Amino acid sequence: MIYLDNSATTQTRKEVAEYVAKYSVENFFNPSSVYQPAVKVKLDLDNARKSILRILNAESNGKVVFTGSATEANNLVLNGLAKKNKKILISAGEHPSIYETAKNLENQGYEVGYISLNADSTVNLTDLENQMNENVCLVSIMHASNETGAINDLGAISRIVKGKNPNCLLHSDGVQAYGKLRVNVSRDKIDLYTMSSHKIHGPKGVACLYFSNKVRLKPQILGGGQENGLRSGTENPAGIMGFIVASDIMYNGLQKRNEYLRRLKQHFINELANTDLEYQINAKDAITLDNILSISFFGVRGEVLLHSLEKYGIYVSTGSACSSKHIGNRVLTNMGLTPEQMQGNVRFSFSEFVTMQDIDYTIKALKQEIQNLKD
Ligand code: PLP
Repeated sequence: MIYLDNSATTQTRKEVAEYVAKYSVENFFNPSSVYQPAVKVKLDLDNARKSILRILNAESNGKVVFTGSATEANNLVLNGLAKKNKKILISAGEHPSIYETAKNLENQGYEVGYISLNADSTVNLTDLENQMNENVCLVSIMHASNETGAINDLGAISRIVKGKNPNCLLHSDGVQAYGKLRVNVSRDKIDLYTMSSHKIHGPKGVACLYFSNKVRLKPQILGGGQENGLRSGTENPAGIMGFIVASDIMYNGLQKRNEYLRRLKQHFINELANTDLEYQINAKDAITLDNILSISFFGVRGEVLLHSLEKYGIYVSTGSACSSKHIGNRVLTNMGLTPEQMQGNVRFSFSEFVTMQDIDYTIKALKQEIQNLKD
């Protein structure tokens, strides 16, 4: 198997899975119980929050709420901060967990503005500046695109947002960037930041939201008052601890891993250039994550190519797996891609487990299959 869909999800690391299994057997207690072993689990969760704060370079009085998915965390941000007489701004490139939640708020009478994208899929800063004003209470812009890997300059975004309205909160969906980029929420004045465990070789069903001390979120799940009243329901301590182990591994080896991924991606680009295939690399003018490569092949359909590659044991996706049920592609449309460029879109997303030989094999398969499909 050659798994090139690491933006959809990643293989759980063996050592993380083993840790989760061991922790869940040995520390199965409910962190809300008051006897000693349960209190120890609660302490582990508090230390897990501190680990996230350290990784994000947040102030020590920052907060972390653990959730079941980044989708849930993103819903909490928008639904928990929306105000009827104020406006929310999101970018047109946001993941459906932000975009659909914003649309839903709009349908309920809340005011939402959409910031356009540049051709490289980064957010258009001039449009942000034009739409930003005293009435905007929340801006949500992703750190890196799940479609193209293009990285938004959070520092520049923050300067515009806070320059126009110091009271406006700035949220960034960091699901694709976390574990791949260094994050500094204090320096960049990011008030809220979303992360997900299964994108960094951690267990599924675990994610979290960082928010600064000044943020007041309205809880969306009510009940026993867990997670400081923000997300009722018994926590998933083993999953959360596994998420922390996965995060530490990502950040401890960040530079070396990114250098490898950069070489891997460049090798893919170079080898593809040596073929006579017709294609374009999307977002090539942006600074992108080292593990995502979005390519539009001409004269073939992305889904057909996807299934052709599947026969070789190569797994890729067309745009975002989360939005694959929708027709067309909102993000690629907003980048200005033509229908033909969109139709032939394939997203290759790598991990450290992909080898140079895997890339060579994939290029060979692409050459063969695209030729077959055209014939
Ligand atoms: N945000 C981005 C940018 C994503 O890529 C994804 C998943 O693909 C999500 C949010 C949703 O994450 P989760 O699967 O944890 O709900």
